[in-house]
Amino acid sequence: MRILVIGAGVAGTALAAMLEGRGHHIKIIERSTDFSKSGYALSLWPLGSRVLIGLGAIEAFRKVAQPLETYHLKNGVGEQINTYDLRALIAPHGDTGTLSRKDLLTLLRHRIVNTPIIMGRSITQLNHLPLETEVTFDDGSVEYFDLVVGADGIHSKTRYLIAGDVPVHETGWGGWVWWAPHGTVPVTDVTEYWGAGRFLGLYPTADQICVFAGGPTSKISQEIAGRRQHVLDHFAALNPTLPSVFDALPFDDQDIFFWKLDDVRSPIWSKGRVVLLGDAATAFLPTAGLGASMALESAAILADELLRVEAKNIPRALSLYEKRHRHRVEHAQTESRHLAKTMLINSTPLAIARDLLMKHYSVENFVAGIMKSLDEPI
Ligand SMILES: Cc1cc2nc3c(=O)[nH]c(=O)nc-3n(C[C@H](O)[C@H](O)[C@H](O)COP(=O)(O)OP(=O)(O)OC[C@H]3O[C@@H](n4cnc5c(N)ncnc54)[C@H](O)[C@@H]3O)c2cc1C
Repeated sequence: MRILVIGAGVAGTALAAMLEGRGHHIKIIERSTDFSKSGYALSLWPLGSRVLIGLGAIEAFRKVAQPLETYHLKNGVGEQINTYDLRALIAPHGDTGTLSRKDLLTLLRHRIVNTPIIMGRSITQLNHLPLETEVTFDDGSVEYFDLVVGADGIHSKTRYLIAGDVPVHETGWGGWVWWAPHGTVPVTDVTEYWGAGRFLGLYPTADQICVFAGGPTSKISQEIAGRRQHVLDHFAALNPTLPSVFDALPFDDQDIFFWKLDDVRSPIWSKGRVVLLGDAATAFLPTAGLGASMALESAAILADELLRVEAKNIPRALSLYEKRHRHRVEHAQTESRHLAKTMLINSTPLAIARDLLMKHYSVENFVAGIMKSLDEPI
């Protein structure tokens, strides 16, 4: 089969690794021009890390990922609300761990040997023919494929070309992401501060801590000029207790990433011989930390269907992939939206009530959604 994968992110690279060596001609294109940026931290739950076992990449994952053992929930001024020990419940299902997106992509890329990745390339047009898809690239060249996989992330061009303009689900929140040195929190612990109109998350990887500092976009400005002071002011109640975190906040002349907390749900997952994978099909809010794990799981299911079909029957395989996984993915996305309503609160009285409730929220309730998804057949 002639397969084009659009996007060398988590899902596209994993899929290529699973399909390589089966006699297919696979090509990946990637819009970015290099892989040098660390990006942000990603936590994988066993739904995602189990896929790495199949890829022979679990030992490489253990070397670079920081196991996620304890989760601390604090309020907007740093007082402890609850602490959850996740080990006993999650460990029987597999590994959890936090690593940089760059490290995850590197270990996935090491699983592909013969698949070319063409950097700085995108698509402009897809033409659905009866037995193949005509693809026009942004350099004007045209090629034909039996299968085109749109793994091009939340703002997917492939999705736009097969499903039109799909509205983004907006929470109205966003925030800045940067890296700080280890030291403020134990490396095995994720710590989140849920305030009224503010949210701070500290996610330790093996060698540093990824920081997310957010709030309603009406209060957390995306302006570069004055950014550092603005963030420091917004989190003034926490600055004194977390000096190494806020000292590491880059000055305004340095490039850091503003993350708008939005997601997307595509109404269709495939058209003809073109299929959406990962965030391109269903993107996630970060609230449950499920996006990358679900992207890996979707890649495994798509690969499973594709390994049992010949080129002429690809549309059938795509339909089976969607039937097997779409409901599960959308259910998880709905749960992450519900969680956002609890985590991202503007009003002080509501935040106080939420904190009181969370004080008595058990670890079983806290991970109920993940536990259920680990027990369900796929
Ligand atoms: C700050 C942040 C923190 C996150 N934390 C977590 C977490 O803790 N746990 C978790 O599970 N998920 C997390 N996520 C979500 C997770 O990153 C995504 O769900 C996951 O990466 C989806 O994988 P993907 O392959 O679908 O998309 P991506 O990994 O985004 O890959 C898409 C790729 O396609 C490329 N591309 C885009 N457009 C084109 C084009 N037109 N042509 C060619 N290439 C293109 C992009 O450059 C990119 O390399 C986080 C996301 C962010 C932004």
